[in-house]
Amino acid sequence: MYHIEIIGMRKKRDKKIILALIICCVIGILASVGVIVFSKKTVEVAVTNVSDEHSEIHEGIESLDIVENSSISEKESNIDKETTEEKDNTTNNFNAQEFIKSIKNIYNGEEGKRVFLTFDDGPTKEVTPHILDILKEYNVKATFFVLGSRVEQNPDLVKRAYNEGHYIANHSYSHKYSKIYKDAESVLSEYNKTENAIRKALNKEDYSSHLFRFPGGSHGGQYEKIKKDARKKMNESGVAFLDWSALTFDAEGAKTTEDILKNLKNTMKGWNNVVVLMHDAADKKITYESLDDVIKYLQKEGYKFENIYDLI
Ligand SMILES: [Zn+2]
Repeated sequence: MYHIEIIGMRKKRDKKIILALIICCVIGILASVGVIVFSKKTVEVAVTNVSDEHSEIHEGIESLDIVENSSISEKESNIDKETTEEKDNTTNNFNAQEFIKSIKNIYNGEEGKRVFLTFDDGPTKEVTPHILDILKEYNVKATFFVLGSRVEQNPDLVKRAYNEGHYIANHSYSHKYSKIYKDAESVLSEYNKTENAIRKALNKEDYSSHLFRFPGGSHGGQYEKIKKDARKKMNESGVAFLDWSALTFDAEGAKTTEDILKNLKNTMKGWNNVVVLMHDAADKKITYESLDDVIKYLQKEGYKFENIYDLI
């Protein structure tokens, strides 16, 4: 009886142990599922936040793109691709408003002398390859303000400039003042058309230069009212604009390297931060013929060559 009782108690105890084990297992499984669900949710929330940040950063460009009727799904796929980019103006670290500030402060750099070489109105078969060759020789990175219409004619040159580390920025599609400055919307439309041409040439759907140079300059002249409106719209849309502080007059009749150097010295006025305007339009042979001397002169004066990537 006593023996039977003990066996009975053992059986009961065993049952209790088994039951306890089962309960523990169930609790364990439930806890694991809970952790997985929770962590999944956390990841989802984090991803959503990154996406939100993205759409905020690129909201500007997208609102400009509305002019071009690009679809929302296209834009979303661009945002997804941007997360996989490494260092570019399309990375998830890129902040358009910070970029606009950097461009506005381009003349206030305090780390010694720096110069930004900029080339407008290209690319052209006649001039751009020579300029690229010389820049390569000196390992100088420049900024090219391209025209959309010429990008379509010479996509390989845009690709070459980009691959060699130069910054590809936007200088309108047509360069025809009467067309561009019809109203602010026309300026934005030319900007978008050129951005699309650059994307196509580079075969990079997510490329956005975020940088415009107004043909004829961003301020003044008979189109000032329209330019003012466009400047505001551009900045609101995350696009910076940049003029220049020195020029060689390569597009205004400089005939010799001596002229070019003299004009450069006169317009630089010894400033520490300089943006030099030059041109790679088809008839600007003087630009590449004098480029060696321009670079040597700036080196001798102690300038460091930078391009827009250094501001990102
Ligand atoms: Zn121009």
